[in-house]
Amino acid sequence: MKIAVGLVLACVQAFAWHPVGHKIIAAICYDELPSKTRAKVDALVRAHPDYAALSAHATTKKERWAFINMAGWPDDIKGDPRFYSDTSRNAVATPSLPGFPDMKRHTDWHYVNFYFSPDNTPFPATPPTPNVLTQMPLVTDGLKGAFAPYYLGWFEHLVGDIHEPMHNISRFVAWNKDRNGAPQSDLGGNSVNVDGFTNLHAVWDDLLGTTDDPDYIDWMARRLRREFHAEKTPDVDPEHWSHAGFELAKSEAYKFGAEFGSNDKPFRRTPDYTRTAQALARKQGALAGRRMAAILATRLN
Ligand SMILES: [Zn+2]
Repeated sequence: MKIAVGLVLACVQAFAWHPVGHKIIAAICYDELPSKTRAKVDALVRAHPDYAALSAHATTKKERWAFINMAGWPDDIKGDPRFYSDTSRNAVATPSLPGFPDMKRHTDWHYVNFYFSPDNTPFPATPPTPNVLTQMPLVTDGLKGAFAPYYLGWFEHLVGDIHEPMHNISRFVAWNKDRNGAPQSDLGGNSVNVDGFTNLHAVWDDLLGTTDDPDYIDWMARRLRREFHAEKTPDVDPEHWSHAGFELAKSEAYKFGAEFGSNDKPFRRTPDYTRTAQALARKQGALAGRRMAAILATRLN
């Protein structure tokens, strides 16, 4: 049994909000855009090299639907043979195609590992690079350049990822050691056993929902816009978002204590934990969508 759990945890490496979470955030953004900006966004979306696939089976306006799907595109390419895993050893580059500045999967752009330890285990002082914070300026500036449609998808995705608290943090605890006995990171919660069958990162990725259905996505986007008021002045600084996410993760996601999260001693969720986490995730989703809209309105003027 223990072996089985270990295998499951090794295979289920989560990377981002579930695609549904990304799509909800993009729907909030699109529906909040000033009409002038929306026209510019529509033109970029139509110019995306994968527009045909992204707009297929649209249930609302094609451009809106493709924009929503583009938010999940940087995760989609993890399984797309046109692209290659540039962060893997012995990576072999795939042929260049029009519309893409490169064919890399850039799997290290989705998160930033600010470390912490609740039991005073030593940890590295600074996060490895590149990370989502070093790449945000690149993708945001890219909204104006030759590959703007490509960078728009990345921009949507990374704004969403930074608002997922678990994309800003990794925990060090005394019992989590590598083969040589040195303390090691929990990989954004990916190695924290929850309930014996899932992990902390995946739990938080799925909090906005996992029903990949247009009606659910539109319903949840409308609900979040109604439930959460806009900031008076939208905070458009990714460093602030990341810092807030780190603090949220420390105080809420990891509140179960340093001794839990191993395969022997999983963290067992309580209904109260899940309720609080879900409310937080929804607030984060609403913030992400509106902040994304605010940045696009300034950048695409
Ligand atoms: Zn991601």
